[in-house]
Order: sequence, then structure tokens, then C-alpha cells
Amino acid sequence: MEMAGKRRNLFQEVMTMLVALAADGRLVTLRSHEQARALAGQAFYCPACRGPLRIKNGPQLIAHFAHLDHACAASSEPESETHLAGKWYLAHYGEALGFTVTLEQYYPAIQQRADVVWEEGGRSRVLEFQCSGISPARLLARTQGYQSLGLEVIWIAGPQYHASWPGGKQARFLRWSEAAGFHLWQLDPARSQLARLELTAAAVVATVYQGRQPQVTRRAYAEPLTTRAKAVQQALVHRDAKVLSLQALAGRQGLNLGGVPWAVHQQLRHLPGLDTAEWLIRSAWLLQFQGGPIEKAAEAAFWRSYSSVKAPQLAPGQLQAAVRQQWLQLLTAGGYLAPTPQGWHWLRQPRWYRTVDEKLQALGQAGLR
Ligand SMILES: [Zn+2]
Repeated sequence: MEMAGKRRNLFQEVMTMLVALAADGRLVTLRSHEQARALAGQAFYCPACRGPLRIKNGPQLIAHFAHLDHACAASSEPESETHLAGKWYLAHYGEALGFTVTLEQYYPAIQQRADVVWEEGGRSRVLEFQCSGISPARLLARTQGYQSLGLEVIWIAGPQYHASWPGGKQARFLRWSEAAGFHLWQLDPARSQLARLELTAAAVVATVYQGRQPQVTRRAYAEPLTTRAKAVQQALVHRDAKVLSLQALAGRQGLNLGGVPWAVHQQLRHLPGLDTAEWLIRSAWLLQFQGGPIEKAAEAAFWRSYSSVKAPQLAPGQLQAAVRQQWLQLLTAGGYLAPTPQGWHWLRQPRWYRTVDEKLQALGQAGLR
């Protein structure tokens, strides 16, 4: 909070930009301090709201235009050095790749100003570099705005959203493609690093695009199963509301969530964006379905009860489907479940333990899978 306050003071919360309308109607892009000095004294206007702008050409920030007296609704965020630098980075990178690049393209029909547009062969791709906070709902609304014009948009997370292990805060940037599966983009202009993080079940695979030679690094999820089992006990001790409500459900079946089957912790899909932790969903699934044969309709309804509003760029149900597929794969490959025409039936039941200690002792013994 304190950092955010300082930043606000430093950059003043006015909308600034790199492209402006000159008095004769031409669009002018500010490219350098020298050019900014040469243009000093001329009148410029915002291409979106037509409000008056002035040139800011101090030693600290990249040369830019700033609204004189008010905020402008067309942009997704107030300007900062990082955002200005990121737009230039994406513009230059797009040009190097052979795209026709436009900075700050304004679309009057939807009253949105795109940070950067890459165009090739009539196909336009909007890049939004997001440095300040944006809610999943706002991100979705702006995405739908571009989609209503037939434009693809790629949101690129700014430094405040970077994380080695993407979680709920990063889920708003989560997208899916045939080629890369679940992934997200991030950019750090200060280090000239544009990266795509692919979220596979086993690892975060980062491809860093720096010049012509992408560097691929793979970070596997290495958290021991024992740590995950102990975390369940911790959540019970800390009286986490969702955990306690599931513990009550388990108690009605004579079971203790602290001794939830090991399968609940194994081979997690590790995707952020659902409103409930993956192990909790799996535990609830067991409590609902372990009593007998599993019918397709009831099983499908189970997954619809989990929300993915934190991941607004994914198709409805897509996140749930991926987490579900991983879980059913584990149960069938592990010899617990077998498919039937109506759904599934149990071959053997995953074992619950009376306590977390009993569960930890069983680790390493035969039959644990
Ligand atoms: Zn404006």
C-alpha cells in the first residue's frame, strides 16, 4: 500500500501517453527527448477524449504527453515509467518480428485505447501491458470490447504481477492455446525480458524471448507429499472456513480430513484460478462419490459448483475440466476407478487415515500409491 501511494505521488494520477493529435489533425508519436524539445509550445490533444495535452520531457521519464487536468477513461491504467518503457519494448519487438506496429491505437466504437497493436496480413493482435491493478471483471470487459471488433487481445503481466509460481493473483492473465496449453505472458522492460510461462501439471516452463534466441527453463513442482499432508492439518488448526466446512462433512461419514487419502495430494494439476484449492476439491469429490457408483450427470454437476471468475480469459468450464481430467486420470491409472457406460465404478477405495500422524507413518509402506 505504501509503495502504491509513493508511486501515485511520483507519477501523479493523470493519463499520459506516447501518441497525440496535433492541431492539424496528424497523429504524433513521441520517440525521443530531442523530438519532444523540438515540439515544445505546440498544441496537442488526446486522440480519445480530445482533452488538451502537454509534453512532459523531464530527465526521469521517457518523453510523453500528459492530460492537463483530468483522467481519461480510454486507458486501462495510469502511466508509469515501466508502462511507457513496456509499450516501447513491445513496439520495437513487434517491428523486429516484421509486424506493422501501432502504439496506443484508439477504438472509438468501444472507447478503448490499446497499448500496442501488431498487424500482419490484415490480422490485428492487441497487446495490453498491465502494470497497475486491474480486476478480473474489468479485464474481461475490456477483452470483450476488443473481441466485439474481431480483435485478438493478449494481456501481458507487468512486474507487480510476476511470480515464479503463478497463483490466484496471476490467474487473470491465464490463457489457453492449442500450441502452448495453459499459459500466461509477462514482461519486465527494465530487464528487456518478455516471457511466456506454460503451466503444465509437473512444472512451470518459462520461455524468455530476448533477441532471437528464446531461453527455456523448466521449474518442476518439488513440494514433498508430506508437506502437503501437514498443510491440511495446519489449515484445520487455523480454522480456515472452507476446510472446517469440509471437515464437518467428513465427520458425518466418520472421517477426519487430517487423514485424507494420499491421492488427494498426488499429481496435482497446479492451475490457479479456481475459488477453492485443488486438494480441497478432490477431498470434497471423494466425500461425495466414494459411497458407490458414480453417475456422469452428478459428477459433471459437482465441477460446475466451482467458480473460475478469477481466470476470465478462459472458456467457461475450461479450468474445471483440466483439474477434473487430471484427477480422474490419477484415479483410473492408480487402479481405483474403472469407467462404465453410466460413469465409473470403484475397483478399490482410496484409504483414509484416522489422523495425520497415522497417514505420515503409512508413507513408504507397501500399497501406498
Ligand atoms: Zn483522453
